[in-house]
Amino acid sequence: MNAVGLTQSSEEFVLVNIVEEIVREKVREAVRETGGCPCRKCELNACALALNALAPKYVTTERGRLLARVGLMNPDYLMKVSIEVAKALKVVRERPLH
Ligand SMILES: [Zn+2]
Repeated sequence: MNAVGLTQSSEEFVLVNIVEEIVREKVREAVRETGGCPCRKCELNACALALNALAPKYVTTERGRLLARVGLMNPDYLMKVSIEVAKALKVVRERPLH
């Protein structure tokens, strides 16, 4: 595996929950597809609900982030995320915070 542009020396340490990134993308996608409220309040609320239902996956480097993402990009896991996102959006739709 050739990680283009990623050298050890320029690597910065971060603390990122990779599941959060995936959920944020899925929520945006689902809101577009289902015509949900696209405001930031609803989006973040849905992200929080879905993330509370999923185990976090923290990484500390950009390389770790990429590897973890690849590891999570399998149909079973993505289906699990989609189900939690759908549940979260349903809650937000029924009880919006605005
Ligand atoms: Zn809204």
